[in-house]
Amino acid sequence: MTLPPVPEFVTVGVFTNPLDAHLAKGRLEAEGISAHILNEHYIWANWPLSDALGGVKVQVAHHNADGAKKILTAHIAGAYEQDLKQEFPQIEHKACPRCGSEEFESTLPLSYLLLVIFTLGLGIIFPMRQSNHTCLSCGLRWKD
Ligand SMILES: [Zn+2]
Repeated sequence: MTLPPVPEFVTVGVFTNPLDAHLAKGRLEAEGISAHILNEHYIWANWPLSDALGGVKVQVAHHNADGAKKILTAHIAGAYEQDLKQEFPQIEHKACPRCGSEEFESTLPLSYLLLVIFTLGLGIIFPMRQSNHTCLSCGLRWKD
């Protein structure tokens, strides 16, 4: 009995955050390209070493690599965000409370940064939610 040939896999995306890798995998699969994720568990176990370990990789079969790279380039550039808004209009979209612009910068509050420094000392790290925002259109600063 002979087994079917195993396809050669190609890395089409590398991410620091495993959640971003899963979003990319989901986009590829939504477009009909089967993908899998490599090195995810090392990164979940030790996030600060993500870049040192080479990040979380998204791979596809060699014959799908060119199409997958085009899809991921569009995905990272935000080309699918409008589709998301149309399909799920009930999802809250953040916007400047003064001018309605969706162009803003988000930063961590100082108290979170102190918490990160403290928890790094204990070897624990977790994703932080950015809650200080500055509108790039009108300059308004707000928190949520
Ligand atoms: Zn504004």
